[in-house]
Amino acid sequence: MSGESIGRVVIVGGGTAGWMAAAAAARFLDDGQRTVTLVESDAIGTVGVGEATIPPIRGFNARLGIDEGEFLRATGGTPKLGIEFVGWTDGGDRYIHPFGTHGRDIEGLNFHQLWLKLRDRDGIGGIDDYAMSAVAARAGRFAPPSPDPRSPLSGLEYAYHFDAGLYAAFLRHRAEAQGAKRVEGRIVGVDHDARGHVAAVRLEGDRRIEGDLFIDCSGFRSLLLGEAMGVAFEDWSHWLPCDRAIAVPTARTEPLLPYTRATAHGAGWQWRIPLQHRTGNGHVYASAFIGDEEAERVLCGNLDAAPTAEPRRLRFTAGRRQRMWAGNVVALGLAGGFLEPLESTSIHLIQAGISKLFGLFPDMRFTDIERDEYNRLMADQYASIRDFIILHYAATRRDDTPFWNYVRTMALPDTLARKIALFREKGRIFRYDDELFAIPSWVAVMVGQGIMPDGYDPVVDALDADKVAGALRQMRANYAAMAQQMPVVR
Ligand code: FAD
Repeated sequence: MSGESIGRVVIVGGGTAGWMAAAAAARFLDDGQRTVTLVESDAIGTVGVGEATIPPIRGFNARLGIDEGEFLRATGGTPKLGIEFVGWTDGGDRYIHPFGTHGRDIEGLNFHQLWLKLRDRDGIGGIDDYAMSAVAARAGRFAPPSPDPRSPLSGLEYAYHFDAGLYAAFLRHRAEAQGAKRVEGRIVGVDHDARGHVAAVRLEGDRRIEGDLFIDCSGFRSLLLGEAMGVAFEDWSHWLPCDRAIAVPTARTEPLLPYTRATAHGAGWQWRIPLQHRTGNGHVYASAFIGDEEAERVLCGNLDAAPTAEPRRLRFTAGRRQRMWAGNVVALGLAGGFLEPLESTSIHLIQAGISKLFGLFPDMRFTDIERDEYNRLMADQYASIRDFIILHYAATRRDDTPFWNYVRTMALPDTLARKIALFREKGRIFRYDDELFAIPSWVAVMVGQGIMPDGYDPVVDALDADKVAGALRQMRANYAAMAQQMPVVR
């Protein structure tokens, strides 16, 4: 049984979330009867600092029919092969969390288990040496993945760094060309219907916009889901105490590195994101452990070029709304929740929200079945990403500041504690349900942070160890040789 179709989709907010939603809605929901309206206020402005992404962004762009070259030119974009973490384990270390896979499974056995067993033998090297993306990143080189499973390039994956403001403008142009209507104005109130759903938003100047489905992309304020629908915020700052950031762009430097860098400091960490026309930098820190002025000094003392604008300060709280969809309101982006940008996951969460909303698109009855499923799926996504981010802090050995002492000894979510314990035993990792990060990502960060399992999965003893070691040495040589053939990033 189905009900009457939704005719009027209203998107509140024109940041990255709003324009991603509008571009997708204009492309997939426009059946000639449905209208898509986006309301935003230039006077309020956007956050606009999200600049690093993860590989599924390529699928999002492809589904919108976006040409990669055009997109990169429009957004100052560059390729991203992963994230280099500096100083997270004991202060003097560095490792890469690469996109894509490590090595190749042999006879159905997980590559990382084979590596765990043989890692002390001559010529085997670190696990990074088996990730095409990490080997290429270290060499400052890039080439697209190969569809040929025999090529070392088949294990490479990539995403983008881009200017989030330019991306929103690029999507706006496409959305408007496909029929989405933009309304400029500040929302000052919300009208509810008899069911408690949002019936309309009221704008300054006595204007009113009615809708059937409202997508709340209003940023941290969460105008519709939080304020109008009263959905509470679940605070995760006891696990993720960083609550402020200072962002500053600097001039572009050479060579252009095909990865994000995340450098740990005394009470947080600093990002470095290379774009075509500038480098994005920011210090994410915990205000309970460092003052704003000191945090700015740390940032400015660790830049590799001159700033091109004044530093910008931002505040946030880690966590999410208890439900992302209430009544006829679905929140995307910062209106739904925030996880610090350590693994560049916020734009992905917007995209995941859009695709799940379209996959569960309601009709005018707004049944619980679709809503509950959406809320369950999004809650799982948030929790699994949260755990992955916490892992970087919890697995540190740093004891040089009160901040690191706090995160190293804090109580962990049960889900993460179980994952770490399982890995410590025999290096086992399982990917649950709709979890975003795949096994190679968990392995890269666990090993990178210095969690080395006590043993390995005994099933790998079924294979001849000398032969496997020979295969691993060959793989390692192939990745190194392939990287040298790839073009230097420009
Ligand atoms: P906003 O950009 O805040 O947009 C809100 C919109 O709502 C604006 O258009 C505003 O005008 C409108 N609005 C609000 N109130 C009203 C009103 N009353 N009337 C009318 N309009 C209104 N993400 C990543 O994926 N990668 C990263 O590297 C990354 N780095 C980040 C670093 C920091 C320090 C922060 C804080 C975030 C980072 N993010 C990152 C997250 C990313 O910036 C956001 O997910 C993304 O920009 C989406 O923001 P948004 O559209 O939800 O909100």
